[in-house]
Amino acid sequence: MSASANVVEFWPEARYAGEVQLRYAYRLYPTVRQRQALARAFGCARVVYNDALALRKASHKAGERYPGNAEMSARLTASKDTPERAWLGDVSAVVLQQALADLNIAYKNFFESLSGKRKGPNVGLPQFRSRKDTRQAIRFTANARFKVLGNGKLRLPKIGDVEVRWSRELPTEPSSVTVIRDSADRYFASFMVNVTPEPLPETAAECGIDVGLGHFAVLDDGTKVSAPRFLRRVEKKLKRVHRELSRKQKGSRNRQKVRVKVARAHARVADARKDFHHQLSTKIIRENQAVTVEDLAVKGLARTKLAKSVHDAGWSAFTAMLEYKAKFYGRDFHRIGRFEPTSQICSACGVKDGRKPLAVREWRCKKCGIVHDRDVNAAKNILALGRRERLNARGGYVRPPEAVAAAGEAGSRRGAA
Ligand SMILES: [Zn+2]
Repeated sequence: MSASANVVEFWPEARYAGEVQLRYAYRLYPTVRQRQALARAFGCARVVYNDALALRKASHKAGERYPGNAEMSARLTASKDTPERAWLGDVSAVVLQQALADLNIAYKNFFESLSGKRKGPNVGLPQFRSRKDTRQAIRFTANARFKVLGNGKLRLPKIGDVEVRWSRELPTEPSSVTVIRDSADRYFASFMVNVTPEPLPETAAECGIDVGLGHFAVLDDGTKVSAPRFLRRVEKKLKRVHRELSRKQKGSRNRQKVRVKVARAHARVADARKDFHHQLSTKIIRENQAVTVEDLAVKGLARTKLAKSVHDAGWSAFTAMLEYKAKFYGRDFHRIGRFEPTSQICSACGVKDGRKPLAVREWRCKKCGIVHDRDVNAAKNILALGRRERLNARGGYVRPPEAVAAAGEAGSRRGAA
């Protein structure tokens, strides 16, 4: 049972004014011939991407300006006339152009991450693609004339009419489709669709969410959310097959078999996790007008042990879902930077109580005497910071003052310490 292949995913790139872009993913069942054609297309897109990357690296090294889009595109077309690259003609030209576009996006993300314009985890320099990469993908835009046929199949230029499992309806005509093969050898079509947001009726409820150490998330109202049992079970199984793999001799037939098992277990864990994130994020966004989370994707933290467990649990994927769902349903969403000492401040009186080792799960405020659950207290402070941000600057990312105001009195009591 894997629903994640069917759910809406977020596409964080360019958005149109007033519209949000969502991804709808479906499982594909290509025939043997179509698989071969897809393998060829993945290979060609990879070569075009790598050629362009090599050229870019070479021009950088030589201190020259990197050729622009038009020139790259012209070079690509010309290369099809050379014997070394003539086989690129077997693949939809749009797919190859999109490979060039991918490289541009990769560089853009890298530079914006470097300058701090892009939030979230650091993005490294673009890397060469390999046939051994666990995820292979190609993209067809509307120009490529891909088409959903009356018989339910998906027509892909130079690939064929591919069978799709339509687990839900596409809301409108998609603007592009990405065809993906994952490490478990499954195929997916991920359609990009522009949709108009559908704001939910307003509610007065707000929510602050902290990463729990023993739980996936802790809410300011005291709710502690753990990963569902199904997810924990498949995670355990993944660990088991990993151990099995390490015992197999390198290059042996058995090892190859176990490797496929590992890939499938990985896919199952990823699916289960995604389902869990979807259910939780939808519930929170439906029930609250404003949601504030702690943003952990900050430099420095990435090396700590806490960060690893957090990254494993997919916190950033979860908060990205909250963000796009907030946009879609007309809710407010905020991220609070890690520079806020949310676990050191009393959410009741605002006093800064000092650093506390991770082992301290409960503490009593020296000033007002309230006993706090560490995580719930932090979630309350996160909520207060979110409120303050909304008051201070609508939509802006403002660094609030060091001490957090008492929950419920944001803005009225600062620096009580
Ligand atoms: Zn206090």
